[in-house]
Amino acid sequence: MDLASIFIHDTTWAFAAEIVIRVVVMFSMIIVFLRFTGKRGVRQLSIFELTIILSLGSIAGDPMFTEDLPIIQALLIMSIVIIMYRLCTWVMMKYQPFEDLLEGKSLYIVEDGALVLDKIKRGKMSHDEFFAEMRQQGVEHLGQVRVGLLETDGSFSLLLFPPAETRYGLPLFPKQYQVADEIDPKHCYACMHCGYVDYITEPDQQCVRCECESWAKALDSEIVR
Ligand SMILES: [Zn+2]
Repeated sequence: MDLASIFIHDTTWAFAAEIVIRVVVMFSMIIVFLRFTGKRGVRQLSIFELTIILSLGSIAGDPMFTEDLPIIQALLIMSIVIIMYRLCTWVMMKYQPFEDLLEGKSLYIVEDGALVLDKIKRGKMSHDEFFAEMRQQGVEHLGQVRVGLLETDGSFSLLLFPPAETRYGLPLFPKQYQVADEIDPKHCYACMHCGYVDYITEPDQQCVRCECESWAKALDSEIVR
């Protein structure tokens, strides 16, 4: 064991320059790849922050047990990642389109008690995912929700109707989110695909909004918090 080998090994200036290029390319590739998955960030982390964690994780781990990976190379890589992070953050602050490109935009999922159609059609997110998010915030049915916004970090922001303005809406809990077999013409029903609420006469009546044909009995209970 000799210290020069642990810290420097066979690092040349040419290879140092190569590392810079490699890091910039890989860093960009991780961002592009994560963006293409169509996913939002994971639990409070945006795609961009996730990229930092992925990059730093492997850089920090590998030199711990790889004989011919000198510390100085890891140090160089970490420095470049940090510089790129700072640089991107700075450009994102100055230039909005760059931020949208890297982190995506926040999306309206619910408006006035119904799901926003083009968002669910494009498969940005499954029903299950945002139903779960709303349930966790104590929402029983869509008629309680005025606005539901999907943030860039994957979290879900809600604005609710005041209790007195609660309307009929699509149930979000599994026991009530059931296809109605028999129709009570005096009761409201909600389209299970888009959340549109209407009086219907047939169990397989077509939704005027999304052309889907399954309905669940709508709820109008006020939210309790
Ligand atoms: Zn519908």
